[in-house]
Amino acid sequence: MVSRVIPVAPFDLIVFGGTGDLARRKIIPALFRRYLAGQFEDGTRLIGAARAGLSPVEYRLFAKEALKEFSAEYDENSEGLEDFLNLLDYVPIDATGDDGWEELKTKTSTDRVQAFYFSVAPSLFGALAERLNSYEIAGSQARVVVEKPFGRDQETARALNATLAEHFDETQIYRIDHYLGKETVQNLMVLRFGNMMFEPLWNNHYIDHIQITVAETVGVGGRGAYYDKSGAMRDMVQNHLMQLLCLIAMEPPAIYDADALRDEKLKVIRALQPVAPHHIVRGQYEATDTAPGYREDAGNLRSFTESFVAMRCEIANWRWAGVPFYLRTGKKLRARTSEISIIFKALGHSIFEGDTTPHRNILSIRLQPNEGIDMTVTVKEPGPGGMRLIDVPLDLTFAEALREADAPEAYERLIMDVIRGNQTLFMRGDEVEAAWGWTDPIIEGWEARHDVPKQYVPGSSGPEDALMLLHRDGRRWRDIKA
Ligand code: NAD
Repeated sequence: MVSRVIPVAPFDLIVFGGTGDLARRKIIPALFRRYLAGQFEDGTRLIGAARAGLSPVEYRLFAKEALKEFSAEYDENSEGLEDFLNLLDYVPIDATGDDGWEELKTKTSTDRVQAFYFSVAPSLFGALAERLNSYEIAGSQARVVVEKPFGRDQETARALNATLAEHFDETQIYRIDHYLGKETVQNLMVLRFGNMMFEPLWNNHYIDHIQITVAETVGVGGRGAYYDKSGAMRDMVQNHLMQLLCLIAMEPPAIYDADALRDEKLKVIRALQPVAPHHIVRGQYEATDTAPGYREDAGNLRSFTESFVAMRCEIANWRWAGVPFYLRTGKKLRARTSEISIIFKALGHSIFEGDTTPHRNILSIRLQPNEGIDMTVTVKEPGPGGMRLIDVPLDLTFAEALREADAPEAYERLIMDVIRGNQTLFMRGDEVEAAWGWTDPIIEGWEARHDVPKQYVPGSSGPEDALMLLHRDGRRWRDIKA
């Protein structure tokens, strides 16, 4: 079910790479849902632009197939489907040549919001940006949307920023990190800054440590060759995990506004300490009798790229000094889950005789599956026989409590934010460069030392050494469970 929303004035959305994997799996289904929600007024134009020499009719067939495969709202005979498909247009275009640009110009108007989604390899960003201006296609309300990866280190990110800046102002550039589009991630900010009871405790006086886990059950599969050039650090930590860490650790911005928020996130990144090699564990999943290991999947039997990374990070500021942030992400782990857990300190003294367990409150924010928040509190175990204490979760699963089924998915929200000109949930150029500035020395250290990732059993929670990372500190990871 898709709930109705307030429509936005007619706009043009041009998806470069409109025949690609991301368009098929995410962008077209997201647009379909927003269309069904009644968000597009008459006159809105959705245009695919890619290398393939398709006609608009052929592109509609392509989009129909994409929706059939990836949209829960697909209904073969529905009017909504037909009307949406009829809205789609297509222009065959060469990003690095002249073909298609004059035609594209005739299909979009400079007097309205124009969103140019660069769903193509980053090596094409410069060529696209340049042509949008030299062909005078982009008007004053033009925006460009760029996907991850935004560079592979600080130098390349800086170069990409410089290229985009030649043609567009920072206020026109929307760098997507789809984690920020997730309902729970935004709720994390409301939880912190919209409630009285959390923020006073949100510091090193009351919090023992923080864990962020993003676990996947899939391997690198068909993306092996691409992934092998990046690894978990570049693919997940530098962007998604860092963004989550920033939202947990940042100071309250004075207002909920794009620059105020991004200024605060940037301060967190700048306060992140370099990570010592013994505070990081890298892993690669092994082969089993029935499934290939990481190296076979990557097509590189001598690969040193990590499919798992766990690390202990520290933020050097007054709020967080002495509170470790443990981050962990990997492929082929026990369950698919993304979770942030705030583990509060144990009580300094228990008045309950015989109660020797160090009870801790844990606030746990689940991003997937079953987006929701739960809080572990200590209560009395029911029944006679004195005061026995147990820890139980107070559960707030959004699907039940807040009709999560109606909530827009990450890509829907982010695309509509672009149309509305709201950059709050997008990364600013300096933020991305700073994030690379923190991860670069770590990656360079591995390369210089020829660091060999530890093997781990598929379906486990990663290499043994990752457990030790916390055991050494007298702590343990939360279980990876769906
Ligand atoms: P893809 O290879 O499936 O598609 C590439 C698209 O670019 C195609 O439509 C192709 O026609 C077009 N293209 C290539 N060269 C062109 C040229 N010279 N002129 C015009 N069009 C050209 O790629 P993808 O997986 O859809 O990824 C697109 C972008 O999104 C990449 O930057 C990728 O890193 C990023 N991304 C993808 C995913 C995903 O799940 N696929 C996830 C996150 C980010």
